[in-house]
Amino acid sequence: MALTPGQYLRKRREAAGLSLDDVALCFETVPPIAAAARAEWLGLVEADAVPLPAGIADALHDAFPFDPRVLAELAYRLADDPDNIAFGYAVCRSCACSELDPCGEGCSWVPGDTGLCTRCRDRGLGAPGGDTIIVATLAKVAA
Ligand SMILES: [Zn+2]
Ligand SMILES: [Zn+2]
Repeated sequence: MALTPGQYLRKRREAAGLSLDDVALCFETVPPIAAAARAEWLGLVEADAVPLPAGIADALHDAFPFDPRVLAELAYRLADDPDNIAFGYAVCRSCACSELDPCGEGCSWVPGDTGLCTRCRDRGLGAPGGDTIIVATLAKVAA
């Protein structure tokens, strides 16, 4: 099951209970643009219409928790070849939390289901037994 960088950021922002406007107030741009325009631009980032500059990723990370490792992997879009996985990071299919980025009150995988965290299960967000989203790093094979 594919997950894009924009979808990942949206899931993590929504899990933090923040709107695009909330996040837009958490960082500045050079040259400065109005908060409303920043919120609109963030919407484009979440729609994968524009790439996310590295400096802004740091600012977003100050605004809401996510796993930079997962974001970097998604940005490389290397998960297209599942036969060549060297490392895989599972993320919750509801809120996209991960092992290094658990939900604020703490969560773990639902027993027998590494695609859904206990917080989301307890809130009825996401059916058990669905696809596991693995954010994967491809093995680099030296020629
Ligand atoms: Zn979750
Ligand atoms: Zn969680």
